Amino acid sequence: MLAARLHAPGEPLSLDQVPLPEPVGTEVRVRVAGCGVCRTDLRIASGETTRVELPLTLGHEIAGWIEAAGGEASPLLQDAGLSHDEAVVVFGGWGCGVCGECRTGQEQRCPYGRSPGFQVDGGYAEAVLVPHPRHLVPLEGLEPVHAAPLADAGVTSYRAVARAEPWLVNGGRVLVIGLGGLGQFAVQYLRQRNGVRIAVVEPNGMRRQLADSLGADVALADGEPASIRGALGGDPDVVFDFVGSDLTIGQASAIVARGGLVMLVGEAGGHARFGFDMPLESWLTTTTWGSLGDLRDVVAIARRGGVQWATETMPLTDAQDAFARLAAGTVAGRIVLLPTRTA
Ligand SMILES: [Zn+2]
Ligand SMILES: [Zn+2]
Repeated sequence: MLAARLHAPGEPLSLDQVPLPEPVGTEVRVRVAGCGVCRTDLRIASGETTRVELPLTLGHEIAGWIEAAGGEASPLLQDAGLSHDEAVVVFGGWGCGVCGECRTGQEQRCPYGRSPGFQVDGGYAEAVLVPHPRHLVPLEGLEPVHAAPLADAGVTSYRAVARAEPWLVNGGRVLVIGLGGLGQFAVQYLRQRNGVRIAVVEPNGMRRQLADSLGADVALADGEPASIRGALGGDPDVVFDFVGSDLTIGQASAIVARGGLVMLVGEAGGHARFGFDMPLESWLTTTTWGSLGDLRDVVAIARRGGVQWATETMPLTDAQDAFARLAAGTVAGRIVLLPTRTA
């Protein structure tokens, strides 16, 4: 089968013919309908993130159809009510299944985790081998190419908003930095909270218009503190940083209200200064991906039309072009790569 693989950091992706993987034990082979292109993929390809094992088929935002199952997987699929050819979205936080994190439903935090497109082959291919049927969430009518971004953009933003719940009170002031693939979901989840005021900082004018249409109260071109305070009526109680550069983290931790929360989601590699020069008793936290329960919630919300997102498809063979477009910031929705079956 064809797979877009990274052999060394800084090199372009290589379109390789690799064997179609055969599932054994609890493994399930999913035929890829589409795989979303995430900024993290760009960072992996450029060598900015080191938690990867090369060579590697990239792609962690995967949806497709159940195609083949190992001997132990078949009865488990049956128990879960999943059948051959069923459309599924792939949960990517593949943990060991037995540690404390895994047993308490936080498998994405498993210290022994190995995820598709990071340590094991991912979805930039015709098929992906999933370690266990529990990692498959049925789409129940959602179209898999369109649903692929739920596996990361949809669920990571959902978890970020859910973890900020204690701060999202009526009258709460929220700042969202960056309206890319994840920020667009976050604004919609936030809009569903009663009485929060949402300001978005986004340099791209097209995306600022999108922020307005998704329900942001105001969309600003830059993070100038006086305009943020003016727009929100005070310091933000929560800042979601979907960029994560030195600049944006610095802005977030300077403007957050006393006792407020900075939720760092974007992985642009920035760092925060932490100490008493920050607003008193403010909180800083990172958030990553979502749990299996979070993904099930997101699929349910999407099925009832509670969240909208735009996708744009490109053939898998154009993966490198997709990277260039994402890097140039000319993508409005999520790019989803479509494989063509060769084997
Ligand atoms: Zn991602
Ligand atoms: Zn574990």
